[in-house]
Amino acid sequence: PDNLTLPQFLLDKHPLDFLDRTRKDIDAFNLQLRDDLGLDCGSLIEEDTGRQLRFSEMKERSDALARALKAKFGSLLLGPDQSQRSFTVSIFSPNHLYYTTCIWATHRLGGIVSPMSSTSTVSELGYQLKLIKSSLMFVHEDCLSVALEAISNAGLTGIPIIVIESSRNDLYTVDQLVDLGNLLPPYPELHLSPGEAKEKIAFLSFSSGTTGMPKAVMLSHYNIICNIIQMAAFHRVFDSSIERDEQRFRPGDVGSCAVPIYHIYGLTLNLHFPLFARMNVVISRKFDFEVWLKSIEEYRISHIWIVPPQAILFCKHPAVKSAKLSSLRYCMIAGAPASAELCRQFQEVFPGIEFGQGFGMTETSPVATLFPLSERVGKIGSVGQLVSGTLAKIVRPDGKLATYGEAGELLLKGGQIALGYYGNKEATRETFVDGWLKTGDVAIIHPDGSLNIVDRLKEFLKVKGFQVAPPELEGHLLSHPYIADAAVIGIPDEYAGQLPRAYIVLHPDKASAVREDADMEKKIRSLVFNYVSEAKARYKWLDGGICFVNAIPKSPTGKILRRVLREVAKKEIMGG
Ligand code: AMP
Repeated sequence: PDNLTLPQFLLDKHPLDFLDRTRKDIDAFNLQLRDDLGLDCGSLIEEDTGRQLRFSEMKERSDALARALKAKFGSLLLGPDQSQRSFTVSIFSPNHLYYTTCIWATHRLGGIVSPMSSTSTVSELGYQLKLIKSSLMFVHEDCLSVALEAISNAGLTGIPIIVIESSRNDLYTVDQLVDLGNLLPPYPELHLSPGEAKEKIAFLSFSSGTTGMPKAVMLSHYNIICNIIQMAAFHRVFDSSIERDEQRFRPGDVGSCAVPIYHIYGLTLNLHFPLFARMNVVISRKFDFEVWLKSIEEYRISHIWIVPPQAILFCKHPAVKSAKLSSLRYCMIAGAPASAELCRQFQEVFPGIEFGQGFGMTETSPVATLFPLSERVGKIGSVGQLVSGTLAKIVRPDGKLATYGEAGELLLKGGQIALGYYGNKEATRETFVDGWLKTGDVAIIHPDGSLNIVDRLKEFLKVKGFQVAPPELEGHLLSHPYIADAAVIGIPDEYAGQLPRAYIVLHPDKASAVREDADMEKKIRSLVFNYVSEAKARYKWLDGGICFVNAIPKSPTGKILRRVLREVAKKEIMGG
């Protein structure tokens, strides 16, 4: 469907219109909905309150919100080209029941949604808002003070803010606008011509790509729709020729959305795909493992999509022993490397469930591989197979194509590959080459079609599944008056995956003071640590350590030789 927006695809059409299914499948699906599940199919449920939004309610509410946005803010909803077809709305909120309402209302009007991490600091948010030129913001009450300060610091005053939910009465809330919209006449909804959904941006999601600062990845409506269909086709969702007990996703199953929705993993996999499959989704506002264990029991959660640190909690946390987790049927790990040992341990904790890895990235909407339906448990160490409609090639360091079993950079092609980086032609040219996405990941493909990810060429670290861009931290460190030069690398950590470690060259007077006085060294180390902690989100803090050095190793062209620093770190760690 290359002429539909995401809400038109999800809300206005029947899911089986998009899958190659028989009349029998359609009848079986409709029967299942009618008899077993009725209206409760495809709902969102708020973890801490149990509050529920049904599929039909979400549709009505997003339509009403679109009407109100048009009526109240229509003249402000302009894109950089002053057109009303390309304005950008940011969502700055922890996971919330109203996320979909805000997204779909914006899409109905032709706007672009940019979801932003609710843990962003004032400077991080300001950077993102400027980059994407936001016209309006949906902000959670807890994030309001950061949003207001970021708007003011970045000189963006005039951006209207709608509070997601609040008792204050100086700003519109989503509920107030929905009520208002219910009284308004229909609005002119965006209709795309054939092919247009391939170009029309739905989301600007942040990733730092292969190198450099975080960039806004342009994901089209078609990218997301395509990725949902790719998953549905790969898993043969709604295929009545598969025995009901063997079907991996069934209407009425209960998924859990416990990873952040601002990240593409939460957005597509935890939210939109289950809704397409007419599953119910329990939304965790904030991830708290013990609360989550109780929710799995209380809501009979059957499907979870997690990152490796969450898998570690399942293997190690004492509360798991007494938790009642018999409702779990499926678990996928993705977002960062999961060791073979971790996968083995996880299987021991949950011997009965379907379990495996997937691989993807923001630039692939995000799913590129999943563990296949034929494997109840994915091959240990493997990230599964390419999802339907995806091509891959593996290019060796010498530029030649790899054969089976040989490592090289993974390149991908398919309907889910992003359009590029917003306002950054150079990075787009480097990463999106002749229709192929250079993933920056090193992979091996086997004759059975399964892939292993064996290394990462690109610069960013993954801390608990979140991206940390070394140049962002280096730029910040360099702005400190004591610091002459800085480099950041990741060091391995069992729980977080990686932790940021900084190598710092101090200005000569401070360097000699540090050499002569151990107390001074401690003082400056804590000063540097705080300098980062005060400006950056929690996962970017220098928990991997701060090391003072005389010089940063660099290539003749001035590029930081991170490989050399990683070797240095390895020796330091091994030496205790
Ligand atoms: P993001 O854009 O934040 O989703 O980050 C994508 C990156 O996370 C990929 O390019 C990989 O480096 C890494 N990644 C995601 N899933 C996996 C996986 N299953 N195994 C290894 N690395 C992964």
